[in-house]
Parts: sequence; structure tokens; C-alpha cells
Amino acid sequence: MPASSSLNTITEAARSLPIYGEFDVVVIGGGPAGLAASVSAARHGARTLLVERYGFLGGMGTAGGVTNFAGLYGRHDGEMRQVVHGVVDELLERIDALGGLNAPQDGMQGRIRVRSYDVSAYKCAADQWLLAAGVQLLFHAWAAAVVMDGRHISALLVETKSGRQAIRAQRFIDCSGDADVAHFAGVPFELGDGQGSGLFPSTMFRVGHVDAPRALAAVGEFKAINELMAQSQAKAPGRYQFAREGAILRPQKNPSEWRVNVTQIRNAAGQAMDATDARQLSDGELEGRRQISEYFRFLRNEVPGFEHSAIVDIAPQVGIRESRRIQGLYALSGEDILSSARFDDAIGINAWPMELHGQGRIDWQFARNIDSPIGRAYNELPWRMLVPEAVDNLLVAGRCASMTHQGQSAARASGACFVMGQAAGTAAATLQAGQRFADIDVKPLQQRLKQDGVYFDAADGQAQSP
Ligand SMILES: Cc1cc2nc3c(=O)[nH]c(=O)nc-3n(C[C@H](O)[C@H](O)[C@H](O)COP(=O)(O)OP(=O)(O)OC[C@H]3O[C@@H](n4cnc5c(N)ncnc54)[C@H](O)[C@@H]3O)c2cc1C
Repeated sequence: MPASSSLNTITEAARSLPIYGEFDVVVIGGGPAGLAASVSAARHGARTLLVERYGFLGGMGTAGGVTNFAGLYGRHDGEMRQVVHGVVDELLERIDALGGLNAPQDGMQGRIRVRSYDVSAYKCAADQWLLAAGVQLLFHAWAAAVVMDGRHISALLVETKSGRQAIRAQRFIDCSGDADVAHFAGVPFELGDGQGSGLFPSTMFRVGHVDAPRALAAVGEFKAINELMAQSQAKAPGRYQFAREGAILRPQKNPSEWRVNVTQIRNAAGQAMDATDARQLSDGELEGRRQISEYFRFLRNEVPGFEHSAIVDIAPQVGIRESRRIQGLYALSGEDILSSARFDDAIGINAWPMELHGQGRIDWQFARNIDSPIGRAYNELPWRMLVPEAVDNLLVAGRCASMTHQGQSAARASGACFVMGQAAGTAAATLQAGQRFADIDVKPLQQRLKQDGVYFDAADGQAQSP
């Protein structure tokens, strides 16, 4: 292929691309947001394609080895209840039917409730769920660029094993987690904390062949593993290098297998690794596995029940908590989380607290009324956080939606991503021809979401928008 080059760049020659297909809605990314978006769009009659760079679905939940749904449960009148409902319920049922869903587990003095799952069951359940809803899938396709027509995306360009191809659609939903498509389309964004760092990533792993009764007795309590780490350091300073405090070590459905969330990936400057930098991302994979080897040595030597354990899985990729967040019509903020904010244009609920993975530690901040026996300790998510300012036929859902760094540290959890995805998919399928997402009437959308099972408190949608 003819090309011109200079010292630091090379110019690729223009070329014609085959068109893979034409759709009503194309969803990019098969994580919690993309799953809910594509199922919802297809259910509302849109010819829907989901494009995913890997050969399986689940996003960070599978590729990042998260193995846990957070944010589905929140406290209301002092009682923990499930406050995220909608299409996600079908996914939970399907994972459960495959024997892969754990019973809810409480933590943080009853302030959080989560559900762990088996990664393989999640992958199979997600395949079956999307196919049953009529979603078309294109795996192993990496969204690489867009073709613009004014403020409209007219085609998505993907790299595949068949070469570069174009996909046309009326509407696009970016659920890539990194806002890749929004970025290609010129949507302004903020990266991490806006000061060269952000929520630190972690490479997740699972340890099997654990003596469950002894391990549960020793470190079944949330705090116990961190006390053991501190004692080991006090006993023999420097023997183990821990990347952070606040290790999260939890049993899976089968308690002889434990999920370990303990690594922390820094770049050469000591800041959070930038997941949009190819070199840092590559180096981060090496660093994650180095830290896992080191931590596993600690587990085997110091933690009762782990003496004969083995690493049974390291996540396919370093787990990314935060990268680009788009600038949309509203940015969900930390104050919205702390004040259990309500919005006129609510699309559902976020029930996860702020979980700020900073240098060497995790800072948890709960809704101010979390321990109150009266009222709701969770916030609504506004429709406007999905709507980018600069492009008319694009929505952005999931961890890269419009939020501040603090707001995202909460609403990045799977529960809120499912909620955002369902709203985005429903809106994309029901948008009138020629209408902009920015101009839609939210009331009919809220009505549809309610009919489709999304949970709204009685007073939801009644608040004044800030
Ligand atoms: C270490 C770690 C632990 C966590 N723990 C929990 C937890 O316990 N519970 C919980 O609920 N949440 C947890 N989270 C957060 C949660 O998993 C994510 O924030 C959530 O998965 C985000 O969903 P999403 O759909 O927005 O994006 P993602 O899950 O990131 O999905 C994005 C999808 O897009 C695909 N993609 C990306 N770029 C492209 C491209 N250019 N072309 C094609 N496809 C692309 C990816 O392969 C992926 O499938 C954790 C996150 C991490 C990293």
C-alpha cells in the first residue's frame, strides 16, 4: 500500500472499505452497559448489532475478572433491598440457571450487598440472552474510527480478521468503557482525575484448592485479610511488598475458590496507569502478573487455608476502573452520590458508594444518610449523563458516561451500568426520525423503562433538576 512518512509519523493512503452491514442501532462494547443497551434496543424493534473486541461478552465482569455484581442493592428505611431491576433480572436468572450465581453477600457493616458469579456461566448466559433478544453479534471486531457527516456518525470502522470494514447505522451507543467511539467522533472528555492520574487499575485473579473451613474462619470477615497483611509486615518488615491497603479477598460460589482484588497498577511516574496509552497498557499487564506472583507467596505462607492453594485464573486483561469520561449534558457528581440526589429526568438508580482507588489505598464514601433508619441511601441517574454535547446520533453509557471523577467512582459499578445501558438502548430504538437525542421528551422514555421493569422509587422523576 503506498504511504508517505516523516520521522515520527506515517500517512496511510486512503482506501475503500467493504460495508459489513446496515443497522438501526450499533452498540460498541459487551460489558454491563452494552449488554443491557443491545437487549433493550432489539426488544424495542431495532435491528441491533453489538460489536465486541473479544470473543466473549461481559466486559470487565469477565475480561477484567471482576466476578461480582455491585450496586444492585441499596438501603431504604434502613433495610437493604434490590433497587436495580429491569433487563438485568433476566441475566441474573440465566446465570443462576447455569449454577453460576452466588447468594447475596453483605459487607462494610451491612452498608453494601453484592452477588458474586462464575465467569464462564456469565459468558454463556450473556450469549444466550442476546441471541434470544434478537441481537446480532460481531466478535473480534475492534472499533477503530468513525466516518462523520456533520454532527452525525454515518459509519463505524472496525478492524477484523477480514480486514478493516465499515458498519452503517442510524444510531450508535458507545459502551466501550473508554469512550473510544465518542473520542473518534470528537466528543470532549476528561481523562481520569484530570491531573494525570485517576482510579488505579487492578489485575484480578482467582485462587483455587483453598481449605474452605479454615480460610473462612481466618479471613471470612471483610477486614481480616488486611489485619493479617499488617501483622506480617510488622513481623518481618520488607518480606512482602503490598501494592495497596484494602485488599478484597472473597470466596466464590464454591468456597474452595477465592477472588483476589489486591493489585494496583501504576505507570512510570507513579500515577494510575492510563488505559488509553498503548505502551502503559502493555507494561501494566506485566506489572499486574508480577504483583500477583508476589501476593500469592504471601497467601501461601501466611494465610490459614491457603497453604496448598494454586492460582487458577488471571484475568485476560488488567481491570480498568476509569479512563475517559465524556462531557455530556450533565455530569453526575460526588455530591449527587453523597446527597442521594433525585432528578426530573431519572432513568433508574445507582446504589453503590464512592469507591476511590487512590495511591496505595481505597477511600469509601457513602451517602450521608446510609445509616439512617428513614429514607433512601442511593441516588438517581439522570438521562442527560448519556447525551454527548457534540454528536447528535450517539449515546454513551456505562463507566465512560458523563460523570465527574468522584461521581464515576460510584456509578461505574455494574448495577448503574446496566441501568444506563437499558435507558440508552430503549431511547435509541424509539427515537423519531430526524430527532436528536438531546431533544427527546424524557417522560415517555421513563414510562417505557417502568413498563420494562426498571425500578423507580414512588417519588422518582419528581425532583428539580440541578
Ligand atoms: C479490578 C476491578 C474490580 C471491580 N469490582 C467490581 C465489583 O466487585 N462489582 C462491580 O459491580 N463492579 C466492579 N468493577 C467495576 C465494573 O466491573 C465496571 O466498571 C463495569 O464493568 C463497567 O461496565 P461498562 O459496560 O461500562 O464497561 P466494560 O465492562 O469495561 O465493558 C466495555 C466493553 O467494551 C469492549 N471494548 C472496549 N473498547 C472496544 C473497542 N474499541 N472496540 C470494540 N470493543 C471494545 C471491551 O472489550 C468490553 O467488553 C470493578 C472494576 C475493576 C477494574
